[in-house]
Amino acid sequence: MISERMKKLVGGSSAIRAMFEEGNRLAALYGRENVYDFSLGNPNFPAPEKVQKAIVDVLSEEESTFVHGYMPNAGFPDVRAAVAADLNTRYGTNYSADNVLMTVGAAGGLNTILCTILNPGDEVLTISPYFVEYGNYVTNHGGVLRAVPSLEGSFLPDLDALAEAIGPRTRAVLINNPNNPTGVVYDRDTCSALGAMLERRSKELGIEICLLSDEPYRELCYDGTEVPWLPSCYKNTVVCYSWSKSLSLPGERIGYLLIPSEMDGFSDVWSAACIANRMLGFVNAPSLMQRAVARCLDAKADVDAYDKNRKLLYGKLTELGFSCVYPRGAFYLWMKAPGGDDKAFSDKAKAYNLLLVPGSSFAGPGWVRMAYCVSPDMIERSLPAFAKLAEECGLHAV
Ligand code: PLP
Repeated sequence: MISERMKKLVGGSSAIRAMFEEGNRLAALYGRENVYDFSLGNPNFPAPEKVQKAIVDVLSEEESTFVHGYMPNAGFPDVRAAVAADLNTRYGTNYSADNVLMTVGAAGGLNTILCTILNPGDEVLTISPYFVEYGNYVTNHGGVLRAVPSLEGSFLPDLDALAEAIGPRTRAVLINNPNNPTGVVYDRDTCSALGAMLERRSKELGIEICLLSDEPYRELCYDGTEVPWLPSCYKNTVVCYSWSKSLSLPGERIGYLLIPSEMDGFSDVWSAACIANRMLGFVNAPSLMQRAVARCLDAKADVDAYDKNRKLLYGKLTELGFSCVYPRGAFYLWMKAPGGDDKAFSDKAKAYNLLLVPGSSFAGPGWVRMAYCVSPDMIERSLPAFAKLAEECGLHAV
């Protein structure tokens, strides 16, 4: 009954999800407290109190038929205006409600913009390692995802390789900053150089290239690291944001696309994106959550709590002799798999009830990803297991 495409997807279901299921199986066998699940980027910290209150206030203060009713496909105009005003304050921009399209999370936003811009066979370039769902999102709209490896060691985009990979069928470059799975943040110099390169290659090839900046981790940065505002580096940028991670609301499915007026063919892109949001079946972003987030655009994630986890995990694992990328954003630690085989290493880790995701699932073989959006207590309890794993791998404490 199911399509050939879905048969393949059912056969090779997500390694992250599989690991999550494995966690539940091991928890039933050994007890939840003895399983150390670093697989899923599901924030362990609750949404800020302000968000909980806003949801209750919307329901008690706003008219029910309005809150729960249909609206323009782009979302409530006053909510979009509030998001635009907030961005203007933060980035010195000049956006209005007409630049903000409320979406069903980042996943919904990416699908909406890809549906808007792709013709069958168009290429979307991304930088490996990358968020595993990108392949599905691009294929959904007839596109072809091509990955260009990041620079060895830094995991920053290899701009020369990217420039070379751009060809007549390139329609978009999709980046993720701060990055899942590496925790790397692209700084202003990198983003400006990326923008200049895209400008140059668009002119050379006589094509329009859209830069899609997927930023669900924008607010999660450490050590004073800042995420540059990409549309100020390249005019044909669409920013894809979500409150899933920054406000611990992944199940609520709320985010937005920022489509700048300066981009080529803006009014067509805007109109098409509104239609795409409708025809993909989203119709509009969840209305209650739109009303709620508009009341708490200044609410902050508990970045300090993630930071403590980050320092604890990075500090202890490097002390044990593991080699990790020092994460500056998001909530993932990217660690070299001793021996080089990420799948074999993840299996070894599983024997100690440590659930890590093999880097191959992100087109980053030889590495593993650990989500540290977990309870600090779980990290502490996992340390003896990591010590045993390090010993089995022949690592030496430093
Ligand atoms: N993009 C990246 C890089 C992600 O890591 C995720 C979720 O983990 C998403 C997009 C999807 O986010 P959302 O839950 O807002 O759809």
